[in-house]
Amino acid sequence: MRGAVQGVGFRPFVWRLAHALSLAGWVRNDIAGVFIELEGEDGALREFRRALDEAPPPLARIREILENPAPVTKEPGFTIRPSEDAGARTVLVLPDVATCPACLAEVLDPKDRRHLYPFANCTNCGPRFTIVTDLPYDRPATTMAAFTLCGECRAEYEDPRDRRFHAQPIACPACGPHLEAWSPSGDVLARRHEALLAAADALRAGAVVAVKGLGGFHLMCDARSADAVAALRRRKRREEKPLALMVRDVAAARALAEVTDESEALLAGPEAPIVLLPRRADAGVASNVAPGRPELGLMLPATPLHHLLLRETRFPVVATSGNRSEEPIATDEREALVRLAGMADLFLVHDRALARHVDDSVARVVAGAPRLLRRARGWAPLPVPVREELPVILGVGAHMKTAVALSVGRQVFLSQHVGDLETPEALDAFERVIADFQRLYAVEPAAVAHDLHPGYASTVFAKKLAEARGLPAVAVQHHHAHLAACLAENEADGPALGVTWDGTGLGTDGTIWGGEFLLGDASGFTRVAHLRPFRLLGGDAAVKEPRRIALAILLELLGEGALGREDLECVRSFSRSEREVLAKMASSGLNAPVTTSAGRLFDAVASLLGIAQKSSFEGQSAMALEAAAFEAWGEVAPGAAQPLAGQIRLVISSDGSAILDWEPLLSYLLGKSSPGVSSSLLAAEFHAALADGIAAAAAHVGAPRVALTGGCFQNKLLTELAAARLRAAGFEVLLHGAVPPNDGGIGLGQVLVAAERLKHLHRGD
Ligand code: ZN
Ligand code: ZN
Ligand code: FE
Repeated sequence: MRGAVQGVGFRPFVWRLAHALSLAGWVRNDIAGVFIELEGEDGALREFRRALDEAPPPLARIREILENPAPVTKEPGFTIRPSEDAGARTVLVLPDVATCPACLAEVLDPKDRRHLYPFANCTNCGPRFTIVTDLPYDRPATTMAAFTLCGECRAEYEDPRDRRFHAQPIACPACGPHLEAWSPSGDVLARRHEALLAAADALRAGAVVAVKGLGGFHLMCDARSADAVAALRRRKRREEKPLALMVRDVAAARALAEVTDESEALLAGPEAPIVLLPRRADAGVASNVAPGRPELGLMLPATPLHHLLLRETRFPVVATSGNRSEEPIATDEREALVRLAGMADLFLVHDRALARHVDDSVARVVAGAPRLLRRARGWAPLPVPVREELPVILGVGAHMKTAVALSVGRQVFLSQHVGDLETPEALDAFERVIADFQRLYAVEPAAVAHDLHPGYASTVFAKKLAEARGLPAVAVQHHHAHLAACLAENEADGPALGVTWDGTGLGTDGTIWGGEFLLGDASGFTRVAHLRPFRLLGGDAAVKEPRRIALAILLELLGEGALGREDLECVRSFSRSEREVLAKMASSGLNAPVTTSAGRLFDAVASLLGIAQKSSFEGQSAMALEAAAFEAWGEVAPGAAQPLAGQIRLVISSDGSAILDWEPLLSYLLGKSSPGVSSSLLAAEFHAALADGIAAAAAHVGAPRVALTGGCFQNKLLTELAAARLRAAGFEVLLHGAVPPNDGGIGLGQVLVAAERLKHLHRGD
């Protein structure tokens, strides 16, 4: 049996089932999966197979069952045999699983021996990926190897009828890890439950507390206190980016946000992600938690530690990654004292080592289904199954929101979110994750796939690695990788029209792409349409200052007259001389590269409508524009809205490729924009018009299947409108789900494109 079949209570399930059906034989884990030998009556064997298909253990995901006849042995009884570790490693390492109701009930029960114990877990819950050091998954191959089981835990561990039978992280107050509260200098202030109470007291008093959780440190503070939140922001150097919140249960989440059935299932699921939910007007949290955002990022406790802490505080806490700005999350308490120095007033730590970092995942319900924006706890390192056996290929991702991918057999394993490769710490984490993956699956890549952009740290690393090992390095165009990732996730054979819209990616013509319509599949693509290009005045400076892009577009619409438009904030906010300099840049093209980036068009429109002039983080302006549009959402609901016919126009060039021209749309918005007109409504109309533009391009191209991918499709409104328009016009629409549409999914696409490229290399064409 292959799939997620280890560490999920599979062997005890098989043991109980075999005993119930009076079948003889044995079950054993090996590094390829679970091996079962059964001997008995035909009817009982069929019944066994039926139970396996219809009611497997809750966390198990069986991918494949191979059956072979075996000689009759007449050996009585059914046993669980020790694990074996020979052969290819195709078993799945499971993600960490949030505390199950049975364990939570024990922790809250004063009569239970695990009462108030923060590390309780069982076969149905607890850490997995963050404690595994090797395969097969057994206690000596986890960071729990350091803790010797007490008699009671051993009895539970060895009893196939017990919920903790072979639960590798099994622990109790007598034999397992413990909490300590540390001062910022590392002095132990309190131990065990006293330490948890000290952390709760500190939170209540407005302090920032660093808490060692499942996959790394969180920085926490009282979410109701604007002062505490401001202090955390200042120390973490995170000015405006929304902060995630942890609440004790679904009822507490409902007090802050609108929770639908779909989002409740996501929120309370075993993955326990941060879920973006529409905030309630009366939500009792400080306004600087998520300034100007219509949504709050909420998560529930994923471990007994967090359950106990949140029950103690009785108020929502900010729970943001324990790091400085975009660095990777800290995992080791000694390292945390250094890396989080000056940020936390108190450290709540424990002595269970983390084998690797895993952030909180971030998800959103879009077009009726959960979609990941950040893939980490609960999903990493589960693979994406692919149709054919692939050579071992490492895909290193791009630059932002990096995650790496590794193909082994018919699976592509996707790493946990690493982050933006902007700091030495992030690069370290990136290299660690790559080494970790190769070691865990005991494979050597046959090729390394990377982005076409030669300047990305990931590209430089990939080329060095390939050279050192004498492997082919395969450059993959950024948006082609997005398209291939979306096709792979949907198990779709190409070709499809990939609407690949994002912030930045180097195109095959050397310009910056990002508003692309690529027709193809993993084996190749044609750029059949794209957004009309515009200039980024000042290059990278324009990314931080959308008003520069707005000015560039105004100059194209109005000529020099744009410089006198004092009525527009994006013009007014520049001095006269600045405007002159920027106009020169635009006309000469010097330090003003052209781009077709849809993300940058969002930035420009946010600026033009007076919604945002500067961005302190990637995507901020686009998020503000979506937030504004949300306010007017009722007026442009997919069914109700009239397409803004003619507002965005396709220009077909002589070679058949099409340009989606933003000029009519932006002229329209500019004409309507005035102090008396709601910018929300215009923002909503902008979204609707882009969706029309996408539908028009799809109609022009005529491919029956359309994939919506790239960072712009993190935008709920754009995604829902575009998908609705396309479906109404009869197209099959592919969206992302468990693989992020942003650059977190790039590694997957790189692997598939590189696999195709290698086939051609081997064929010699
Ligand atoms: Zn449990
Ligand atoms: Zn114990
Ligand atoms: Fe991208």
